[in-house]
Amino acid sequence: MDLQVVGTDIERVIATQEQIASKVAELAARVDKDYEGKDLLLVGVLKGAVMAMADLTRAMQRHIEMDWMAVSSYGSGTKSSGVVRILKDLDRDITGRNILIVEDIVDSGLTLSWLRANLVSRGAGSVEILTILRKPEAAKVEVDVKYVGFDIPKDFVVGYGLDFDEKYRNLSFIGVLAKHMYE
Ligand code: 5GP
Repeated sequence: MDLQVVGTDIERVIATQEQIASKVAELAARVDKDYEGKDLLLVGVLKGAVMAMADLTRAMQRHIEMDWMAVSSYGSGTKSSGVVRILKDLDRDITGRNILIVEDIVDSGLTLSWLRANLVSRGAGSVEILTILRKPEAAKVEVDVKYVGFDIPKDFVVGYGLDFDEKYRNLSFIGVLAKHMYE
């Protein structure tokens, strides 16, 4: 879905469809290089990372495996609750596997630092993180994100997998949701 359809719901565009595609291709090439000759299991965090996973893996030039987890994040509000709960777990054993977590956004970093610790505790061989977006607050918590698409301001963004009340996930671009939509 494109900008003209959502009109004034979006305050400004953060990354266009073209900018996202070229960034994702760049990240895919880096991942290909870093994991050359190694096994790789990509773990997507539902639902936000669906677009990123689909585009990233298709831009990669190697075999990979994919799995998914769903953890609790925002409800219909726009502030992080800090509470992490597994809603859907991995389908397989990850002992000794090289895992790359694929995320849509790192905000406070609470979700990811918890998720990484959780996967490490299950005996993963390595756990790295790739995120399309990162907000400045993420720097405040100890979460080492190896691959970052775009560093963005604090604003609440939607599109390319990111929702507000389950809407806007299918925007082809990433934009700041206009405040009149939730204030
Ligand atoms: P964190 O635990 O890093 O604060 O937040 C992680 C989760 O909060 C993300 O996976 C995402 O679901 C949600 N989130 C954080 N910032 C935003 C935002 O700007 N827009 C949307 N739609 N979700 C966000």
